[in-house]
Amino acid sequence: MSSYAGPVQDLIDELGRLPGVGPKSAQRIAFHLLKIPTADAARLAHAITEAKERVTFCPRCFNIAEGGECSICADPRRDTTTICVVEESRDIVAVEKTGEYRGRYHVLQGAISPIEGVGPEQLRVRELLARLEDEGVTEIILCTNPNLEGEATAMYLSRLIKPLGIKVTRIASGLPVGGDLEYADELTLGRALEGRREVSEG
Ligand SMILES: [Zn+2]
Repeated sequence: MSSYAGPVQDLIDELGRLPGVGPKSAQRIAFHLLKIPTADAARLAHAITEAKERVTFCPRCFNIAEGGECSICADPRRDTTTICVVEESRDIVAVEKTGEYRGRYHVLQGAISPIEGVGPEQLRVRELLARLEDEGVTEIILCTNPNLEGEATAMYLSRLIKPLGIKVTRIASGLPVGGDLEYADELTLGRALEGRREVSEG
């Protein structure tokens, strides 16, 4: 259905590749961009290139950073014996907002999803295991999303890490099931974190 002239269709196609943007939305955003002043469109394009050029991933936890370690790993006041495992960098923002957590993080950059062909080897699991000994970790908090993929990922990791003699906990239920961590309000997420339970099944 490429019914528009070259550059317009290219724009629609590119927008349509973004997560959560269907063909209809892609079309709507494209025509919106064509109508706005050139300076506004240039600012958006610049923000994208700037972010792509300057933002890197922390070599330790894979959170977003600006070259080198992220601000959390570089903070000497953080407790290095606890790692909160999340799916994406944006989940760190959600946990940080609760003000309940003072440890470090590890971003998996996704979750196990057989349907989408994502297995543990596509995630930052190996890097997490390497950190356990290096950083003297005593507790791993599994803070993956309360949906099918997040639960499968948490179960996989607990089976992997518990035998190593490290305490593995999972955030408490009470979060909206099937939802994303980022949609939970601070109070609910804070409570889920506080009420985390040791994963019993090894
Ligand atoms: Zn980091």
